[in-house]
Amino acid sequence: MKVVALSGGVGGAKILLGLYRILPPGSLTAIVNVADDFEWHGLHISPDLDTALYALAGLSDYGRGWGIAGDTFNMLEALRLLGEPSWFAVGDRDLATHILRTRWLAEGLSLSEVTARFTDRLRIAATILPATNETLRTWIRHPGGVMAFQEYFVLNRWQTEVEGVEFQGSGCDPTPGVLQAIEQSDLFVVGPSNPVVSIWPILHVKGVRDAIYSLRSARVGISPIVGGSAVSGPAGKLLKALGYQVSAAGVAQFYSGLLTHFVIHRTDTDLVGRIESLGMRVLATDIIMGSLESKARLAEEILQWVLN
Ligand code: GDP
Repeated sequence: MKVVALSGGVGGAKILLGLYRILPPGSLTAIVNVADDFEWHGLHISPDLDTALYALAGLSDYGRGWGIAGDTFNMLEALRLLGEPSWFAVGDRDLATHILRTRWLAEGLSLSEVTARFTDRLRIAATILPATNETLRTWIRHPGGVMAFQEYFVLNRWQTEVEGVEFQGSGCDPTPGVLQAIEQSDLFVVGPSNPVVSIWPILHVKGVRDAIYSLRSARVGISPIVGGSAVSGPAGKLLKALGYQVSAAGVAQFYSGLLTHFVIHRTDTDLVGRIESLGMRVLATDIIMGSLESKARLAEEILQWVLN
């Protein structure tokens, strides 16, 4: 049984962890967004890869959704005292990951080799693949020009008016193993990640869309939107900026043609007909994954629904 899931950070890692808990070791492959990656004080930071790694290694701060549980921020405070920008929060323990990644990249390893090394050292029995080893970056277009994704997301706390989203490096090559993993999957999942800035970049990697389209197995998505708003973050604002309705139906429309199954929250059953008319089967259930149990339960429910 091979399961492949596309993921961003916080929302995607929740279902990754749920799947990881219920599947036999070695069954899960996560294909993770790297378009949020950026350089911070000379270090290469891959926020979504780190969130996936920490989640599957059991290190995550589940309340906050990112970073390492129990981490401290002394280094960040020291940077602030020295007059340096400190708006991107890097914890003291988290810093070790960024130092090692940067060193290993400088030594000539690719991002996927670095990630495999982390996966191995953290004893994670799953495959975590960056979508690409090349430079793929999200730029946010606004009335004054364009800004890098982290500037929009963290510094401006997604309050900037968005006119569009652009991907630098669109059409880049996939990481070795990405297309094969999709092609050989028995179940393909799109996590409840931000469709616009977490999943869309992965779909801009060469061959990914075609590999998904040609799958004979089920392709299931989970909505990051419940009612009229995102569970967290700017997914609603970004969908609206691109002309989609801010609802699970709007997300289904975004993935129209790509997915065969779609999971929405149990309070959104009024949308079932509209989503079915897009050619998808719909499951309405509890899709809020606050606890470890709720992550595993949703993963189990999806497997039962799709495979039976
Ligand atoms: P990011 O890169 O850290 O922003 O992470 P993702 O793109 O993977 O996840 C962000 C998305 O996850 C947001 O759009 C949220 O609405 C969604 N999300 C967060 N927690 C949950 C949850 O418990 N259930 C569902 N269905 N969506 C969630």
